[in-house]
Amino acid sequence: MTALARVPRRGFSCRGRSAAVTGVLLLALCAGLAGGCRSVETRQLVTRPVRHSIRGDNLLVLSDFRLPRDHPVIEDLMVLRSQVHEELALPESRSDVVVYIFNNESEYRSFLETTYPGLPPRRAYFVGTPKELAVYTFWGERIQEDLRHEFTHGLLHASLGRVPLWIDEGLAEYFEVPGPRPGTVNTEYTQKLSALLANGWQPDLERLEQLDEFAQMQRVDYQEAWAWVHFALHSSPDTRQSLVDYLHDLPSTKKPTPLSQRLSQQVAAPEKRFLGWLSTLSGTRGFAMSADVETEARTAGRETVDAKAAADFPGPFPAFEPSGSTIQQAGFEQPAAD
Ligand SMILES: [Zn+2]
Repeated sequence: MTALARVPRRGFSCRGRSAAVTGVLLLALCAGLAGGCRSVETRQLVTRPVRHSIRGDNLLVLSDFRLPRDHPVIEDLMVLRSQVHEELALPESRSDVVVYIFNNESEYRSFLETTYPGLPPRRAYFVGTPKELAVYTFWGERIQEDLRHEFTHGLLHASLGRVPLWIDEGLAEYFEVPGPRPGTVNTEYTQKLSALLANGWQPDLERLEQLDEFAQMQRVDYQEAWAWVHFALHSSPDTRQSLVDYLHDLPSTKKPTPLSQRLSQQVAAPEKRFLGWLSTLSGTRGFAMSADVETEARTAGRETVDAKAAADFPGPFPAFEPSGSTIQQAGFEQPAAD
């Protein structure tokens, strides 16, 4: 049971869905079942990759392979860090975010299964503990997308400490979409939300604000959270300020006024405006030229991950070649191409 103390309650996030409490409960369950952990006991121990490091603002990337500092993946994270801080006017970070990139999927999975048994298989995880804000992933085809999402979680926690679940995921989804500036429309999400609306679904920010366990977050909740963040940040200066003020209150206020209340004080009938905004976005082909192609690629991959969520990672991924120049050829230029 001592291991339980090392598992954070507040800081488990993963691609698509997350599993904070689930991870903790499964760890306890596993410890109590004689047969359930045999595969873990016999598996070769994989430790965190630490041989090579790259430092940036609030960022420490660790790997067992040499990654050039000017690699597009690294440069993208450095730009993302600036974008997140500028867009949200975040307070100074309290700590760095440590990004562990394993050589391959197999090592990454072995590490997670032995360190945090019971977590659903995902391509990447953010794990926040009092000691460290860590991102775990492996060198695969979707590394840019995954790192953007998880690094955003890390940056938010580094600056704000506690971050309510819905906005943690909404902002990670928002900044995950690459583009010359934040706010590229996620056309997959606008299309799916529009289809849901046609079938009677209604947005409900107050309901989202009540969610405090990852297991409660359904895919539509991630989509709605993204849409509320996009609405708040782009529909008017007042709504943007409401969101920024809300974030600023998080570190110092135990129960900050929810964003839903702030929006109601700033604009009349925010849910009607939200629907109007969603309608506008649905007719938008993206803020950036690359948005459509990129989003379609992400859609295809995510559905694959969902379908296999209980079984295995999608594959195959490109083999890692331990030289800087080959990394670029083997591992990146995506995600638009996959
Ligand atoms: Zn997330």
